[in-house]
Amino acid sequence: MIHPILKEAAAVFSRRGKKVFLVGGAVRDLIRGNDAHDWDLATDARPEEVRSIFPRVIPTGIKHGTVTVHFKGHQLEVTTFRTESNYQDGRRPEKIEYTASIEEDLSRRDFTMNAVALELPEGRRVDPFHGAGDIKRGIIRCVGRAEERFAEDGLRPLRAVRFASQLGFTIEEATLKAVPGSLSTTAKVAPERIRDELDKIILSATPSRAFRLMEQTGLLALLLPDLAACRGIEQKGCHRFDVLDHSLLACDYTARHKHPPVVRLAALFHDIGKPLVRKMDSQGVWTFYNHERESVRLAQAYFRRYRYPNALAQGAVHLIGEHMFHYEAAWKDAAVRRFIIRIGEERLPGIYRLRLADAYAAAGTEPPADYLLPLISRIDAIRAGSHAFSLKDLAVSGRDIMGLGIAPGRPLGIILQELLEAVLDDPALNTKENLLAIAARIYAKRWG
Ligand code: ATP
Ligand code: MG
Repeated sequence: MIHPILKEAAAVFSRRGKKVFLVGGAVRDLIRGNDAHDWDLATDARPEEVRSIFPRVIPTGIKHGTVTVHFKGHQLEVTTFRTESNYQDGRRPEKIEYTASIEEDLSRRDFTMNAVALELPEGRRVDPFHGAGDIKRGIIRCVGRAEERFAEDGLRPLRAVRFASQLGFTIEEATLKAVPGSLSTTAKVAPERIRDELDKIILSATPSRAFRLMEQTGLLALLLPDLAACRGIEQKGCHRFDVLDHSLLACDYTARHKHPPVVRLAALFHDIGKPLVRKMDSQGVWTFYNHERESVRLAQAYFRRYRYPNALAQGAVHLIGEHMFHYEAAWKDAAVRRFIIRIGEERLPGIYRLRLADAYAAAGTEPPADYLLPLISRIDAIRAGSHAFSLKDLAVSGRDIMGLGIAPGRPLGIILQELLEAVLDDPALNTKENLLAIAARIYAKRWG
């Protein structure tokens, strides 16, 4: 069903004698019988005309003929019919040309499923490449010859695998076969565009679907070579799978449980350093000592290469670096407190989720419901008590310490850190009187 808001917007266009069509993802959704999200519209009105007929228009992608119309609380992405020419180096075209025909506009689009338009308001279908049938059958097929379409824009092969995992569709044979021959074009695509696709893959219901297609076609070796190198790295012991299958299963687990992107990325990359540190011990068993450090290094390099936002990258890297903890009931309370500090209270849910994903992906079966309960209940009990976890929780401030005649500077910082360590070992020490006495002792011993 075409949304009433779209019909109202279409009336505004037609009062000016302009045509407007619904295109892109919304058409796929409607043909599949789902509600449409994200409205992309195509029109013969030029961007300036669109700006003159609607009151609130933001020139969001004016280089490509796209503006965002804010209409009755909704956003419409409106793009003028265009052709693309002058593809340079497999990147997006430098120059666009407008056209008066929707058919011509559809012919520059990547896949048949993305080249169907519904004329507004009534929804007459314009479908020169039989995209509706492909949508119903769940098929991703290039408009025209795949080799040529991939040579124009090297992002398209990655879009194909992204759509495959997002929609659960199959890539048609000729389209899939054209991917390996297009890798040199994909290599030239801007990193931010690659990242946007990787993000959508990570957010899809079964990311491994895309990663397996990427492996099969060479995209994985091109874009994430260290992950591709995890294929065939057998682990044995408690592991059933090689490092690549293990990583993909872990990532799928976090997607199935709808965990946030930071956890999904950590799951994908947590063992990526393993091939670099694998050694056989004297018993003939594979070991992977300190692999988390190499995983951190390689994951960091990808996050930089693909321009991931810092907060997301740092969060994922932190989880990766800490994923090898081994809790035992024999841990003293002080050890649990140090664990909480090292992970950071706000990141505890993330580390639990990553551990569950890791356990699932080692065995290939759901870990028992109480798998992390012993650790979590210890942590919860300690957090419920009034125990110091950071400098700001100490019963003394830097100013109090300076009252002992200690000048601000390095000694002051060291003393505060040692006080925190003392309180972690024994929370009962966290009184002003005790801490001032300890501070005086430390100062006298080291600098007195
Ligand atoms: P979704 O928004 O759900 O990810 P979509 O199909 O709407 O899917 P967009 O990236 O929003 O994808 O692009 C809108 C439309 O623009 C696509 O349906 C397609 O017709 C066209 N398009 C986008 N990127 C390309 C490209 N690289 N090459 C050719 N056509 C493209
Ligand atoms: Mg869209």
